[in-house]
Amino acid sequence: MPNFTLDDQVFTAAAAAFTTPFHLYDERGIRQTARRLKNAFAWNKGFREYFAVKALPTPAILRLLGEEGCGMDCASATELTLAAACGFAGDDIMFSANDVPPEEFAQARELGAIVNLDDITHIAPLRQHGGIPQTICLRFNPGGQFRVGNAIMGDPGDAKYGMTRAQLSEALMILKGDGVQNFGLHAFLSSNTTDPNYYPALAKLLFETGRDLVAETGLTLAFVNLSGGIGVPYLPDEPAADIEAIGEGVRAAYEAVFAGTAIRDVAVKTELGRYMTAPHGWLVTHITHEKNIHKRYLGLDASACDLMRPAMYGAYHHITVVGKEHLPHDEKVDVTGSLCENNDKFAVDRLLPRAQVGDLLVIHDTGAHGLSMGYNYNGKLKCKEVLHQEDGNFRLIRRAETAADYFATLDVDAAWGKLR
Ligand SMILES: *Cc1c(COP(=O)(O)O)cnc(C)c1O
Repeated sequence: MPNFTLDDQVFTAAAAAFTTPFHLYDERGIRQTARRLKNAFAWNKGFREYFAVKALPTPAILRLLGEEGCGMDCASATELTLAAACGFAGDDIMFSANDVPPEEFAQARELGAIVNLDDITHIAPLRQHGGIPQTICLRFNPGGQFRVGNAIMGDPGDAKYGMTRAQLSEALMILKGDGVQNFGLHAFLSSNTTDPNYYPALAKLLFETGRDLVAETGLTLAFVNLSGGIGVPYLPDEPAADIEAIGEGVRAAYEAVFAGTAIRDVAVKTELGRYMTAPHGWLVTHITHEKNIHKRYLGLDASACDLMRPAMYGAYHHITVVGKEHLPHDEKVDVTGSLCENNDKFAVDRLLPRAQVGDLLVIHDTGAHGLSMGYNYNGKLKCKEVLHQEDGNFRLIRRAETAADYFATLDVDAAWGKLR
């Protein structure tokens, strides 16, 4: 399995060129991951990855994924606008939305995006806002628990997404009346899993359901959309997902389900976010405070506003101290941000090498659901994003927020502190 970690020299050089904190992304790693995925599914003629924009909604990243052949998976008007601004159009875009205002359907239809309907009640709003297309995708929620062998991989019975099996049949018959000829099926039943059986099991469920719906409705099954969910190893010793085995597993399911049927050329689509970019991003920060009370705390110039996962989910993100990784990891610390929230901690009781104010500290695997989940609590301004290009140069791809950005939505003048 490849190791995507950058050398400490790269972090040091980046921190010399840009003030911390910032997210640093590695172009080469992202491209390699996109190529490996494409290769793993090369057996399927129509295969395409639609990058889940919410994971890393930055134009430079979306464009380079586009260069690798990816489309974009959007879930809001702003994400649609962003994808369009980056040059994606027509069936380059998947609109996998739920609970959205109907005008967003009109925008998706204007762009020619593939619409992935979350609910049977969305048919009427789509009819009125942009119209029913010839090819449409439906999101399936099988309910109960999604099990693979003895393992419970998810609890769709508790998830707000998708339609029941009976609703799929009903929705397709209504849509057929509206002129739909081809359909796709989508489901997202497990999150952040490196289990090689997840996609094959999900694919089998969607292939079988699609096959049965073809028999029921006479419509053509154009594609199945396996959505996101393939995970990355956040812990240093965790195995990575074996994407080649996963691709082969989906191929086996494809052949098992469609052999002996008249169904041909069903394309496989994915909407991976985390798998594509998470390991190729790092939050680069400096230690700004050391505090020794009942515990030892290392305070950073970054906060949960730049990376929320540890605060929100207690998620593990690996942390290294640049230039000190060869030293014994014998100091137990909490690594914190500056929010007035006690959960603003990047790590709790983490063993790190002895570190001090001024040390450069790198938080790993921030390339997905990092800055994009950021927020402005305590009036904190989100940090910048830097791309480590394949040619070794750094490029600022998103500037840090300024006070003026924060004040832009308020009736207060940022520069003078005066009410407008
Ligand atoms: C979040 C999301 C994805 C991507 O999920 P990852 O876990 O990042 O792979 C894909 N499709 C939909 C509809 C999503 O909401």
